[in-house]
Amino acid sequence: MAKGRLIVLTGPSGVGKGTIVKALLQHHPDLYLSVSVTTRAPRVGELDGKNYYFVNRSQFERMVANGELLEWAEFAGNYYGTPRLSVEQQIQQGRCVLLEIELEGARQIRRTFPSALRIFILPPSMAELEHRLRSRGQDSDTAIVRRLQRAQAEIDAANEFDIQIVNDDLEKALRHVEAALLSPVNC
Ligand code: ADP
Ligand code: 5GP
Repeated sequence: MAKGRLIVLTGPSGVGKGTIVKALLQHHPDLYLSVSVTTRAPRVGELDGKNYYFVNRSQFERMVANGELLEWAEFAGNYYGTPRLSVEQQIQQGRCVLLEIELEGARQIRRTFPSALRIFILPPSMAELEHRLRSRGQDSDTAIVRRLQRAQAEIDAANEFDIQIVNDDLEKALRHVEAALLSPVNC
């Protein structure tokens, strides 16, 4: 992976983005994963600065006002955003930077970084998506319902992305993502 580029990974909550990213980073330590800022409360086991930077709404709004975020969106009642500085520094240093973000943020990146490679991860079915969200066991019932309500609209936008990959068999999905990243024109 030679030259710096932005890679955007999007897909409905529970589809397996985090699982795919974790495996990618294990196989390709040269990839840089951007750590987002969020107003969501930490899940059990999540660490500030590793999984997210956890902030309150006024801190987040201040970051937006100061232009500190590359993109941001509200998702299922919370704000999420990408810190601008570290991403720009890593790209300048020639690294491939991975953003794991939702649809509205991906649309903003399309406008500001038209050269970004945008990948959409699809579930094999809505029933399987709901099963994954529930079996992850990390979100309240209300949060799961909000995530599922948002999921169909996100799936409907999958064709706005450069590549669509179904995460049915995890290894197969991972191989597709890696093939996209390892292509000479990408990372
Ligand atoms: P996201 O980051 O997109 O919200 P996660 O990576 O947290 O999703 O995955 C949601 C749940 O689905 C987790 O429990 C994860 O272990 C499981 N999962 C991910 N990929 C697969 C797959 N291909 N088959 C079955 N379960 C999966
Ligand atoms: P979760 O609460 O499950 O960690 O994330 C909810 C959604 O927010 C996921 O679709 C995730 O990809 C998205 N997300 C995480 N960080 C960001 C970010 O910085 N910007 C945007 N736009 N979405 C994000």
